[in-house]
Amino acid sequence: ERLMEIRRQNCNPVTMKITYYKKPLFAHQGFMQWIWDVDGRRYLDLFAGVATVSVGHCNPKVTAATAEQLKTLWHTTNIYVHPTLHEYCEKLTSLLPDPLKVVYLTNSGSEANDLAMLMARLHTGNFDIITFRGSYHGGTQQTMGLTSNSPYKYPAATSSGCTNTMCPDVFRGPWGGSHCRDSPVQTIRDCSCAQGQCMANEKYIGQLKETFATSVPSRIAAFFGEPIQGMGGAVQYPKNYFKEAYKLVRERGGVCVADEVQTGFGRTGTHFWGFQGHEVLPDIVTMAKGIGNGFPIGAVVTTPEIAAAFAKAYHFNTFGGSPLACAVASSVLDTIKEDGIQQNCLTVGTYLMTEMAKLRDKYEIIGDVRGKGLQIGVEMVTDKASRDPLPPEAMGEIFEDVKDMGVLIGKGGLYGQAFRIQPPMCITKQDVDFFLAVFNKAIQ
Ligand code: PMP
Repeated sequence: ERLMEIRRQNCNPVTMKITYYKKPLFAHQGFMQWIWDVDGRRYLDLFAGVATVSVGHCNPKVTAATAEQLKTLWHTTNIYVHPTLHEYCEKLTSLLPDPLKVVYLTNSGSEANDLAMLMARLHTGNFDIITFRGSYHGGTQQTMGLTSNSPYKYPAATSSGCTNTMCPDVFRGPWGGSHCRDSPVQTIRDCSCAQGQCMANEKYIGQLKETFATSVPSRIAAFFGEPIQGMGGAVQYPKNYFKEAYKLVRERGGVCVADEVQTGFGRTGTHFWGFQGHEVLPDIVTMAKGIGNGFPIGAVVTTPEIAAAFAKAYHFNTFGGSPLACAVASSVLDTIKEDGIQQNCLTVGTYLMTEMAKLRDKYEIIGDVRGKGLQIGVEMVTDKASRDPLPPEAMGEIFEDVKDMGVLIGKGGLYGQAFRIQPPMCITKQDVDFFLAVFNKAIQ
């Protein structure tokens, strides 16, 4: 009660809005895929602090590397040349294909996407940005315009209402790629346009072409896409969609940005980066969350040309690429490699997906199970025929029950109709069995 009183009085009330659970979780300790509350109760964490704790809470290897750096040097800013940053940039770019070799380190995913927008605009000289319904790219003033799946309702802040809040028709997910209720594409032009660009057109590429036709083709700066939508509820795109979209964007002078904040670092199992699953090569890749296993760090990686356009302007951030953050992130990369984390995502993720599909076939209210590796979305519906989203009260009941039985999962989707499973990537099949038993019981 005392903590909740402090939360009410001394934390911005927005924190109350985002608080999960009627009886909130008072988290005290974490180890790998587990979290303990202040009363010593253990939970299997299948949400990883919003898909962020990549190699496990307080992973001993990462903790040891961090402790070492804590004793050596915490902070200098980029005004001095410290080895951790440079060694990390080299290590990170060794995992990306040519010509994605130039890194700028940030503190978050929002900052990374904000800078990616800026880089794209400086490089192309254009302004328009295209993104998806259901997308989440950040919460800064610029990136909330990219974010369609958004609780960000600030008519005053976005001033023109040019973005998400004006787009009531939203994309719910392709239902195995075969259905789409509404347009998946949204555009933002600039902050003085009159309306959101709600393209209520046909499907997929057709919609994108339509978006171009109604936008100003010569002004496209960038196309942002999450290889699999995270907040959207693990929404996947049809095969070849990204390939074709990238082509269309480039023909119109824009650059393509892959937001790997959730899909990167092996989470999809088949590849280290989500974009590789679409067989495309982005011009800019943004990352955060899993990069630091919970330590604040993000990155924008791009080509030498785009990086040069950015450098013609000027940029500085105090904390980006701090020795501490780089030591953590470097050790995360080592751990992913040494512990076969990507392979684990594939093996355990495939098992989870297969077993969840059985539950989907069994229960009328599980509309869809989708995703890849350990990024999985479970779309809940009133019934399979109508595909109407399961109402919030029913979603809430299941969600609370699952927690009461000792498992933490996430929520998402444009209607809050999807459960999200994006655990620390070290979970085991045994953990999956425990979750399945719990989820099955909760649904019943
Ligand atoms: N991109 C994606 C795909 C995200 O899921 C998020 C966060 N949910 C962000 C960007 C923003 O990252 P951050 O919260 O670190 O600013």
